[in-house]
Amino acid sequence: MTDAFYTKKVKCPICNNHFTTIKVRINACIVTKKDEDFCIHYKDINPIFYEIFVCPTCAYAGSENSFQELGKNEVLKLKNAFSGRMVQRDFCKERNLNDALDSYKLALYTANIKDAKDSTIAGIALKIAWMYRYMNDKRELQFIQHALDHYLIAYEKEQLPIGNLSEIKLMYLIGELYRRVANYNEAIIWLNRVVSSPERHSSPIIERLARTQWMTLREDIKSNAAQ
Ligand SMILES: [Zn+2]
Repeated sequence: MTDAFYTKKVKCPICNNHFTTIKVRINACIVTKKDEDFCIHYKDINPIFYEIFVCPTCAYAGSENSFQELGKNEVLKLKNAFSGRMVQRDFCKERNLNDALDSYKLALYTANIKDAKDSTIAGIALKIAWMYRYMNDKRELQFIQHALDHYLIAYEKEQLPIGNLSEIKLMYLIGELYRRVANYNEAIIWLNRVVSSPERHSSPIIERLARTQWMTLREDIKSNAAQ
């Protein structure tokens, strides 16, 4: 293990097993590219691969922040789903892209069992889409759509901001995800909301992104019509 990694001791709240997982020092990661839906590409070590903790005994999985924060009902539901499972796979070491993808799939499975918030499910689905993007695999679009469906419910029902997603940032992300799944009419509506929102003055980066993606969208529509 290189200096880029360090370890953290964790107790699984479902099977009570203690395990040691690895984490990445962010200053060891080199950004090579940022996509317009906030997916970041890294040279060598990708910290997104390590965001999900996975218990090596029962495979309960969740983000570091949510791993141990469970209500009584959630623990009960998860114990019913995970008890007696013996997973023969260790996610507590250096992860390749397949390991990272599977860690997010386990997190999605866990989130569905515990009836997690739509924003949580959307966030995990978006990361799965990014893993497929890194692989150049078309299944990316299925998970973009899945993320979009849950972000739309979150936008309606949840208190904003959601994590680092302010209302304007979420509106932008919804517009950009619609663009990526080629639903241009909806993409236009959501990107328009961003550029006409009073909030845009306090979020100049998001406003600029929305204007740039407006241009990209026009190109998408043109090239789609030409096909
Ligand atoms: Zn466990």
